[in-house]
Amino acid sequence: MTIAIDTISLVQPDPAAVAHADRVIVGLGLPADGIAVDDPASGEHIGRVADLDVDDALLAVERADAAGSMWARTTPRQRADVLHAWYDLLVEHTEDLAHLIAREMGKPLAEARGEVKYGSDFVRWYAEEAVRPAGGFRDAPDGGANILTRRAPVGLAVLITPWNFPLAMATRKIAPALAAGCAAVVKPATATPLTTLFAVELARRAGVPEDLVQVVTTSSSSKFSEAVLRDPRVRKVSFTGSTEVGRTLMRLASDTVLRSSMELGGNAPFLVFDDADLDRAIDGALAAKLRNGGQSCIAANRFYVQDGIADAFADGLAARMREVTVGAGLGTGTGLGALIDRRAVDQMQALTEDAVARGAELRTGGERLGTSGNFFAPTVLDRVPADAEVATTEIFGPIAAIQRFRTEGEAIARANATEFGLAGYVFSESLDRAFNVADRLETGILGINQGVPSNAAAPFGGVKQSGLGREGSAEGLEEYQSVRFYNIARRETSAAR
Ligand code: NAD
Repeated sequence: MTIAIDTISLVQPDPAAVAHADRVIVGLGLPADGIAVDDPASGEHIGRVADLDVDDALLAVERADAAGSMWARTTPRQRADVLHAWYDLLVEHTEDLAHLIAREMGKPLAEARGEVKYGSDFVRWYAEEAVRPAGGFRDAPDGGANILTRRAPVGLAVLITPWNFPLAMATRKIAPALAAGCAAVVKPATATPLTTLFAVELARRAGVPEDLVQVVTTSSSSKFSEAVLRDPRVRKVSFTGSTEVGRTLMRLASDTVLRSSMELGGNAPFLVFDDADLDRAIDGALAAKLRNGGQSCIAANRFYVQDGIADAFADGLAARMREVTVGAGLGTGTGLGALIDRRAVDQMQALTEDAVARGAELRTGGERLGTSGNFFAPTVLDRVPADAEVATTEIFGPIAAIQRFRTEGEAIARANATEFGLAGYVFSESLDRAFNVADRLETGILGINQGVPSNAAAPFGGVKQSGLGREGSAEGLEEYQSVRFYNIARRETSAAR
């Protein structure tokens, strides 16, 4: 299969890199150097991108910064029009993008199409949001002044994205940055740079000025962040990835007091109460667990199921997991694709073995599949002891680890016993209970009888060590704006003093 992506080179900052990226044509001849991109289902090299160094990254900063000063002076309507045009092109290229995502990241094509929809929705949302009133007006309480608030673009933004949603994690940052009037330097994950490069190329075709969004593909991510985040031209960092890397970036960002948004790791609890609708809970569990092969920050990580419904839930979930077809993202009927790399498969194996050794019951799966490719069977572990590794770490794979509980209070306490607080799920047919429990869960995102809570209109983000800031919705735009106020003296009131 060949996806011809002919001009994605334009976003690379240096001429040598351009030459490399010119040949990022999936399925065709590849240059010998640079970062190889592999299909996790087959191990086949599907592309190669330039491996840029610190000088390239600083050049990208320089160019984006220069373009940014013009962009900041465009009108909201101009920015909205460009974003609308970008949205149209993303939609038009849904199949190209979906194939690219499925090949470089491994998810099933149907899910990849879903990501294109989700990812382009951010662009449409911020096209619409760009023209909403951004300021306010208020009176000082003593009547001595009027206060006018305005929102200015925060400035050049560095956007660092993970491999699990190569389109959506990029558009969720780039679109609000552009809507606010900011330039951007994007660093995609080395495993999945092709989708981001192509999406940014589409942005340029839509009218985003040539240098405004730079994509820096590099295997030297720490050197990149050390140089770029200390550059005084950079005024914002937005990162999506692991909590560990997020901490490092926050330390770096403190040197220049950078505005920071951090979308970090999760450890989502999934609570099923006796009064839940069983079918709905199982549907929700499948979606929250298997979407993206479980490689999602909001993936259900710890299933807490009440005693009265636990056997039926575990049986039902195991039965549904057994029916899932595992295979290459582009394969027919694939429900679960390859994991991102061999290390992830080894990790699934180790987590399963550790849980079973500690007394968990393996209901289904628990083994790698096939001789090539990074496949692991959909797995259900029941009666998982609380000290098993699978019950405490972010799994990032297709293992559902069920623990049982008796009382609501116990479930909430166990769900909250983690440093993470990104997403949580509650399944109960009692509105009263669902809301009460949701209120007491320490997470930024709640799925209530719902396994897929994400939406461009929702303020996505975590509490505790899952991060800072929000993406999507109006709140996501504010991350790229600074609030200023003008204090306007009122002559007659001042005179009366
Ligand atoms: P990761 O932290 O290893 O990498 C994320 C990105 O950061 C990649 O582009 C990587 O190259 C880059 N990076 C790594 N070290 C860096 C450094 N020192 N300086 C600059 N960049 C650096 O995460 P990952 O394995 O790609 O993604 C999985 C993690 O991301 C999981 O923990 C998951 O929960 C989290 N995640 C969070 C969200 C969210 O919205 N909260 C969304 C998706 C993924």
